[in-house]
Amino acid sequence: MKIEHECPQCGAPVVLEETDRLLSCNFCRTKLSIQTRDFFRYYFPPAENIKEDIFFVPYWRFRGMHFCCITDRIKHGLLDKTIPAVESRSLQPSLGLRPQTLKPRFVQPTDKRVFLEPRLSFKESYILTEQKVSFEQVPVRKDLTLFESFDIPITETVIKQDVLFYESFIAETLSLLYAPVYMRDGIIYDAILKEPASDHPYDGTLDLQVAGKNLTALFLPTICPNCGRDMVAERDSCILACPHCSSLWATSPEGFTTTHFAVMRAAKSSADLVYLPFWRMKMSVRGVDLKSYADLVRFANLPKSIRKEWEESALYFWAPAFKVPPPTFLMLSKQLTLLQPDKNIDDNLTGIRVYPVNLPGTEAIESVKITIADMCARKKIFFPQLDSTGAERIECLLVYYPFIDTKNEFIQQDLRLGIQKNALKMGQRI
Ligand SMILES: [Zn+2]
Ligand SMILES: [Zn+2]
Repeated sequence: MKIEHECPQCGAPVVLEETDRLLSCNFCRTKLSIQTRDFFRYYFPPAENIKEDIFFVPYWRFRGMHFCCITDRIKHGLLDKTIPAVESRSLQPSLGLRPQTLKPRFVQPTDKRVFLEPRLSFKESYILTEQKVSFEQVPVRKDLTLFESFDIPITETVIKQDVLFYESFIAETLSLLYAPVYMRDGIIYDAILKEPASDHPYDGTLDLQVAGKNLTALFLPTICPNCGRDMVAERDSCILACPHCSSLWATSPEGFTTTHFAVMRAAKSSADLVYLPFWRMKMSVRGVDLKSYADLVRFANLPKSIRKEWEESALYFWAPAFKVPPPTFLMLSKQLTLLQPDKNIDDNLTGIRVYPVNLPGTEAIESVKITIADMCARKKIFFPQLDSTGAERIECLLVYYPFIDTKNEFIQQDLRLGIQKNALKMGQRI
């Protein structure tokens, strides 16, 4: 989905991708970081010459990774969906192809239009939609009482069909997309096509008088708050780097906030090194024993004999701080967590090449439960307990890890990891 906007500095037209967090103007060379207090809000302009009052109905627009823990395995995919953020039979259940064919605009502070408040969260709306069209025909049945009467391990004969135990959305771009409608003779009309929005007369379920909070996007100059020089950012970066004073800045509606980070340095420096960012998280895990490295060895059934000191050594969860397709994301999170990389760290970015961060720490924290599920050696027994399993953040640190930049791959020899460059390229489109 592409968004039409004007450069706040010079007024030149700019077309943005929905994942863009940086506006760079080709005319005046301004670079601005785009921020929001909760969700980005866009609207489709209505057709011209409509006499009735126009009001704007919110839809959730979701793009991101989707993981499902099903029976004894993890299914993953990319989701690209537009679903209503209010419940009403008099509206279109989806905006169809419009996000691909029409260019919406940012809701602006000067907009005096009526934007209705969302009444359903994305998840609530998603569940409602899924009851109509099931996710790849997997029956949703979280009735766990079936398992409680069995002390013996659950066998194939007990599970007659697949069960979805947990699902999670990660690395999402979630925004509100407003579609214009109007009322004529008790029927809601689509104000783009000028035709009735559904077969149902208006059911009275919308708060037509209540205008939404109308929170608009904010544009901040990408200047380092510490040294005043230009920071480095890619169009989808959520963390900006200042190579001049070795500082990192997370974007927030209040401005830029300093972000702690660590560099795990390569043994010798060389020109083909690039530092890829990862989130290293210390978590308090509930529902399953995962406090130390020894716990992990048992949980994942690693072929290692447990040393006494492992019972005391802290356990960190890892996840990439860059977007990659779901299978690569799962693989990297699992491998790094199982390997528990441990090297001397410093916090100096001078002279090193770093790969941009486009996956925020909050999303990495969300992914820990899926990583736990993925590492478990006995999934069939563990998955029914996923409802009572959780993980709260204690500490989350951005860690740069050195990789060798080859033609098609980034390679980490000590960890025996390779990441296809293609996967990173595909990730930028998630
Ligand atoms: Zn400009
Ligand atoms: Zn600086």
